[in-house]
Amino acid sequence: AFALDLGANDPVSNNLSRVEDALEAALRLRAQLSRKTVADRQRASVADGLRLAVTDPLTGLYNRRYALPHLARIAARARQTGRQFAVMVLDVDRFKTVNDTWGHAAGDGVLQEIAARLVANLREVDLVARVGGEEFLVAMPETTLDAARTTAERLCRAVHQNPVRLADGVTKISVTVSIGLAMSGGGLQEQLVEWVVDEADRALLGSKAEGRNQVKISASAA
Ligand code: GH3
Ligand code: MG
Ligand code: MG
Repeated sequence: AFALDLGANDPVSNNLSRVEDALEAALRLRAQLSRKTVADRQRASVADGLRLAVTDPLTGLYNRRYALPHLARIAARARQTGRQFAVMVLDVDRFKTVNDTWGHAAGDGVLQEIAARLVANLREVDLVARVGGEEFLVAMPETTLDAARTTAERLCRAVHQNPVRLADGVTKISVTVSIGLAMSGGGLQEQLVEWVVDEADRALLGSKAEGRNQVKISASAA
């Protein structure tokens, strides 16, 4: 009764001197173990499912579904601390030409390498997500404009300074990215994620229009 009170669900007597009792205990143990195996597997597959639901299978980065609520949390935190956050939108330049010239699989390899370079050049606390085909979003909590600009320029350089070497070990493809950067502000509207992302998008258009492979800072932040 005491064991059952503690939550045990299949107690056996600790006197297993009779062969039949020992065999029955072994049988019950085996049943419990197989139940545990099934439960463990289900738990792992739920964890896998959750992870897959928020990650992009090609690059392993977070996807849009994860990025937007995470951004909202960063914004909420910024309202509490009064410290700004930065948002960058990055778009690969002339990526259609990469696909047309080298093929779609090569294009995929380029996206994977760009993703790896972005991760390697950001802090653990920064968010980096693939939010569209060849478009990435970076969010940096608790950051100044100066620090964000330096980071954006580092990312730009990290992509263009060395060509991407494909898995075949031979093919090298030079690519660049354009980046739009915006900062959250003190006003109510300027603390909204949607507003900051729109500003970064607008800055990205400027970066494309002015020749690509560069960082443009939104007018509201500059
Ligand atoms: P821009 O400099 O103006 O951004 O030019 P762009 O060619 O990069 O822009 P556009 O939007 O015309 O083309 C984007 C291309 O990205 C088209 C699409 O086929 C390709 N793309 C999108 N997702 C993937 C992907 O997962 N893998 C590959 N290989 N290509 C992709
Ligand atoms: Mg694009
Ligand atoms: Mg593009």
